[in-house]
Amino acid sequence: MPQTQGLAHPNAMAEIHFHNTLTGRKEPFVPLTPGEARIYTCGPTVYDFAHIGNFRTFVFQDVLRRFLRMKGFRVVQVMNLTDVDDRIIANAAAAGIGIREYTEKYIQAFLDDSRALGLERPEQIVRATDHIEDMVALIERISQKTLTYQSDGSTYFRISKFPAYGKLSKIDMSGIQAGARVDVDRYEKADARDFALWKAPKPGEHFWETRIGPGRPGWHIECSAMAMKYLGETLDIHTGGVDLMFPHHENEIAQSEAATGKPFVRYWLHAEHLLVEGAKMSKSLGNFYTLRDLFKQGHKPSTIRFLLASVPYRRQLNFTMDGLTQAASSVERLRNFVARLRAEKFPPGENESIAAGARQAAEDFEKGLEDDLNTAQALAAVFDLVRDANTAMDRGEFRQGNGAAILAALEKFDAIFAVVNDDDAEKLRAVGYVTTQVSLSDAEVEALVAERQAARKRRDFEAADRIRQQLAERGIILEDTRDGGVRWKRK
Ligand code: AMP
Ligand code: ZN
Repeated sequence: MPQTQGLAHPNAMAEIHFHNTLTGRKEPFVPLTPGEARIYTCGPTVYDFAHIGNFRTFVFQDVLRRFLRMKGFRVVQVMNLTDVDDRIIANAAAAGIGIREYTEKYIQAFLDDSRALGLERPEQIVRATDHIEDMVALIERISQKTLTYQSDGSTYFRISKFPAYGKLSKIDMSGIQAGARVDVDRYEKADARDFALWKAPKPGEHFWETRIGPGRPGWHIECSAMAMKYLGETLDIHTGGVDLMFPHHENEIAQSEAATGKPFVRYWLHAEHLLVEGAKMSKSLGNFYTLRDLFKQGHKPSTIRFLLASVPYRRQLNFTMDGLTQAASSVERLRNFVARLRAEKFPPGENESIAAGARQAAEDFEKGLEDDLNTAQALAAVFDLVRDANTAMDRGEFRQGNGAAILAALEKFDAIFAVVNDDDAEKLRAVGYVTTQVSLSDAEVEALVAERQAARKRRDFEAADRIRQQLAERGIILEDTRDGGVRWKRK
């Protein structure tokens, strides 16, 4: 295969397709710099605990970055923390504390929850309140292009002077009133208006003294300023949930392209929303879950991660308790399979049809992801392989030489899904949740099994039985094999 100069890895050339909201089409992914993917991710607005809908979008972004890395790209992902916006200003003022103090708790919780879900840390996590000067400079730059005006101490973006306005969300501009303004950060398409880049202070609210007057930034300018500061004036990929398409991302495009005259983003990827039992999640409906709500109910991080990752990002995800149960059993099936593969002794040699199946599964897994991150297709390939291999083992057709290729396919799977290695208990402990229902980690089980084997060897059967009992209480079943070894699985 011919290689393109400068690629970090030959596979970086492979045909990855992403659905680009800007063009409305699936397109081959071609980054600006070969071998490098520069991604901006709208992070959480830290006015409350993030919910599972938010984490559906963050898990999609984690799958995206893990997959690009698997394909050999050097990934530079910047995620912001929106630590100043209308809701934060209002809540902090109501609590009578500063906004940094108000948001601190939610930032910590978000970082802890992200770790528990196995989200890789983006290369940069940046806070809006650390970038006020960058926002002011960007507003000045847009003003020099005469796309802004002032009213009552606030600065607005004049959308009628940016002809491309609406190109991302495809809004119909015909009914838009020139000169009408909107001051709130979040509004509907029907209210497309000149929006605030900089807002004059209101009594009792937090503000900054700056060259463009006292006040605070609008939400949209925050992301434009931070994205371009860390990733340059044209980014490869910008991600978020579908609710951010309008007005947030539309306004980001207007501000950035007005200032630079260059395309702001090459590929816009938007995750569809998560519903709970078929309904929009809302606190008043009582179907609103944070991760910690689910952990408290005994659900494992791996179960939640698996469920959130299993539905392709552009499909609506209906989060149900049944779905959680199924996800837990899918993860268990994989873990039990790996344990069986490691513990059982198989006859020497290689079964050619299983070997071909393993190669095919690894290939189909990757193909699924290359097709706009079709995680459902990728998963199907791996579960077919596990089913076939289990059947072959039951029939005595599995051979020692088949193990390595299957483990390699599962390793590839886990580089994206990150659920096979059982570290749920450690993850929960690390974020301060310990529930009795949480199982032991693989490493903990292995250590106890080894201890029991040692006890049996020195004929201390009392100790061996005690350990077996201890494991049984934590849902681990031991099966002694004919060759004196032991196999374990989870109940
Ligand atoms: P926010 O904290 O509101 O700024 O949202 C953080 C991220 O979560 C954004 O990318 C949102 O688009 C996304 N998001 C919000 N609600 C949902 C939901 N129900 N399902 C999926 N993603 C969501
Ligand atoms: Zn943003």
